Amino acid sequence: MPATPRTIAIDGPAGAGKSTIGALVAERLGYLYLDTGAMYRAVALAASGRGIDPDDGPALGALAGEVRIAIGPPTVRDGRTYTVLLDGTDVTWAIRSADIDRTVSQVARVPAVREAMVAQQRILAGKGRVVMVGRDIGTVVLPKAERKIFLTASAAERAKRRGDELALRGEVRPRQELLHEILRRDQLDSERVVSPLKPAADATVVQTDGLSVGQALDTVLQQITRPGR
Ligand code: C5P
Repeated sequence: MPATPRTIAIDGPAGAGKSTIGALVAERLGYLYLDTGAMYRAVALAASGRGIDPDDGPALGALAGEVRIAIGPPTVRDGRTYTVLLDGTDVTWAIRSADIDRTVSQVARVPAVREAMVAQQRILAGKGRVVMVGRDIGTVVLPKAERKIFLTASAAERAKRRGDELALRGEVRPRQELLHEILRRDQLDSERVVSPLKPAADATVVQTDGLSVGQALDTVLQQITRPGR
């Protein structure tokens, strides 16, 4: 296996630090960074804008085939690591709202939504040199990814991080509420029939409880750049 892999898959539950670490890994290696959660969030936002019920699978499937989602380099310097366009409109921050946090996992469990997103994700990864972050990248989207990391942390730690992240944006939410939401999303993501959240058999599991961002990044980079197995 080459020391510089073509594709790197980083999966894990909500709040494990995948986005932060994924973006830093991509920056260090000069790779494209693709956060697939943003795509499911964009579909959830489109559904909410059109009044589609998050339990209406057929309508959500049709919607996922219609909307145009584009993820590219930041177009505004406001702390974002990428810009998300939904049918040409900048939705980078809108997809991070508490409402979308609550509905996105229902939307993401619809098989037709996943098919539409996975097809786009495979095209985006086609050129290689990509760090792709999500829940099912190592298991389903890119089963041949040359490096697979499953980043995780306890639910309490993940709720704390989510709280800190929201506070930085001026949004204060009770820790208990955030913990409850994270546990609910874990359950929906892990128990769904199609592409449930789980480490790929050949993934390296990295536990980030008690690790600083720098320490977690070093651990992940060591795994990614180590000589092949
Ligand atoms: O990573 P993030 O928390 O932004 O993802 C939002 C939601 O999108 C997840 O809770 C999950 O339901 C869904 N998702 C998914 N598959 C992916 C990425 C995200 O089902 N590859």
